[in-house]
Amino acid sequence: MPLHFEDLDVVSAAKDSKSALIVPCNMCPAATVADRENKPFLRLFKDFLKSAPFEKYISTLQDRLLEKGVRSKVFKSHLPHQWFLCMWTAARQKKLQKHARRYDTVVVLGCESATRTVRDSIGSTNCKLIEGMETTGIMNTKLSMRFPCDICFKDSKVIPFSPPERKDQANSCKKDPNLVANTNKGVPRLLKVAG
Ligand code: SF4
Repeated sequence: MPLHFEDLDVVSAAKDSKSALIVPCNMCPAATVADRENKPFLRLFKDFLKSAPFEKYISTLQDRLLEKGVRSKVFKSHLPHQWFLCMWTAARQKKLQKHARRYDTVVVLGCESATRTVRDSIGSTNCKLIEGMETTGIMNTKLSMRFPCDICFKDSKVIPFSPPERKDQANSCKKDPNLVANTNKGVPRLLKVAG
């Protein structure tokens, strides 16, 4: 159930910056980029656990920043449990704080929870925080495996976020085939299926 994103204009937002540390979440943003480019999410034999479309996306962003005079570095980890910014360890947060001090800007590629993790991590550091992506909904997709060992998405849809459920909507939603109830108790919303 990865989240789905649209890009925000990082280059314009960083126009007064000299240096930027890019902090990517490697799950939902990577899924979004692979899906919209219709490329494998993971090619296990070729790239192992790296998502090539997202790696390319980040390096293109770095090139575009450099064209505007902003040098950048990616805050990477080779440990899979550090890839999800919503579940970082305290040690990882501390490490980011230490690294962020060398940059005037931190760019987050992820959701609001990712931004919260980064904001909490950098604490009182004098860094400008830029959100590089905007959450637009939740992906609904079919996982498929292609030869030799590529993990792909197929028939993807974006389930957009909608306003909180009202009682009258709740009473009528059973009759509307375009409305599906979200069974996640943590997100009590009605979701409209994109066409
Ligand atoms: S931080 Fe957000 S974008 Fe990253 S895995 Fe968690 S929910 Fe997905």
